[in-house]
Amino acid sequence: MKTKQLSVEAIENGTVIDHIPAGLGLTILRQFKLLHYGSAVTVGFNLPSKTQGSKDIIKIKDVFLTEQDANRLALFAPEAVVNTIRDFQVTDKRRLTLPDEISEVFRCPNTNCASHSEPVASRFYVRQQGGKTKLKCHYCEKTFPREFVVEA
Ligand SMILES: [Zn+2]
Repeated sequence: MKTKQLSVEAIENGTVIDHIPAGLGLTILRQFKLLHYGSAVTVGFNLPSKTQGSKDIIKIKDVFLTEQDANRLALFAPEAVVNTIRDFQVTDKRRLTLPDEISEVFRCPNTNCASHSEPVASRFYVRQQGGKTKLKCHYCEKTFPREFVVEA
């Protein structure tokens, strides 16, 4: 009997984003333009997870996420783990930390916000309030729950 089951093909070098809450894999794929590297991307949806019930997982061959990318990822999936793979071995396992500030990723939900009429990149300050992630707009200074703030 096999004791270890590989649900997604192993990669030699690259990044494995593990423990993505089920259903968020596609959002992350799109948001981080992971297909634009031209590298092989393997995605697993609704895989069984001991801690989460089910999870999504993304493997990107020959691409390594920067610290900044990892922090942006924290806004979508704070529980995700970023593994760096070299020569089929996990050489680095990063838990994510929320960034203090985030630019360009989201649009301000306030339609009167100056960020919509000015040719500027959106900018939010990230706060944790009562276990929820909130974003405060740099331009209109309004605070929104993370899920109200739409992707740019
Ligand atoms: Zn705003």
